[in-house]
Amino acid sequence: MAVKDYIRSRFFPHIWCPGCGHGIVLGGLLRAVDGLGIPKNDIVMVSGIGCSSRISGYVDFHTLHTLHGRALAFATGVKLSRPELKLIVPMGDGDALAIGGNHFIHAARRNIDITAIVMNNRIYGMTGGQFSPLTGPGLKATTAPGGTIDPMFDVAELARAAGATFVARTTTYHVREMSKILARAISHKGFSVVEIFSQCPTYFGRKNKEGGAVEMMRRYKEITVPVGSPDLQDNPELIERGVFVDRQMPEYCEEYDKIVRQAMERAAQA
Ligand code: SF4
Repeated sequence: MAVKDYIRSRFFPHIWCPGCGHGIVLGGLLRAVDGLGIPKNDIVMVSGIGCSSRISGYVDFHTLHTLHGRALAFATGVKLSRPELKLIVPMGDGDALAIGGNHFIHAARRNIDITAIVMNNRIYGMTGGQFSPLTGPGLKATTAPGGTIDPMFDVAELARAAGATFVARTTTYHVREMSKILARAISHKGFSVVEIFSQCPTYFGRKNKEGGAVEMMRRYKEITVPVGSPDLQDNPELIERGVFVDRQMPEYCEEYDKIVRQAMERAAQA
């Protein structure tokens, strides 16, 4: 199937700003799905609110565009009722880890078979450039003109600590790596988290003098290294990319099915 067959072309041109990283994520995701050969009718994409969450409007999967921060809760309901379907949840950093933070850690704890994509541009883009939990201290936003004083999360560490069984990080610069990682995440049985650095030149780039999209993507190349790179010894400030966690644990829907079957057997014997 051609990648264009996964797209709802009637909704184009898209609403993202020129240079936004989210279109690169969309391309990387569709190439991953195409490579896996998953029929589009077997995929449900659930999104909340934000620039990143607009992806669900552009893909020709089953889609649900839901409430801010609640995409993982909706996706959990879909997965429990139709466990044979693939669930993909694209989120922005604010959507995933501010209002949606509680859903994020509990989806990871349960190990439900959902792929969460955190498109990390370190800002609330859609609502005007307010700082998010991933903006980081000293950086500027509409709501922090002098620089935010809030420490930031490490998405990968948070996901690992909460129990996610697949955790990875990549960037829009590393688009082939992104597709491979997304394919592994979608194939993984259990809760998988892929953090993708995705540039917002309109708000984060402009306010923090990081230049346009090209400069921001070049920066992703410069500040990240593959997991375990020897360069980390010389420069511990570098950020690791790649797969951090890939392990098997009982999957939530399967465990739930066992409980239901046991209850039905007991009822039949009574
Ligand atoms: S505001 Fe930022 S995140 Fe939103 S579409 Fe524009 S560049 Fe992309």
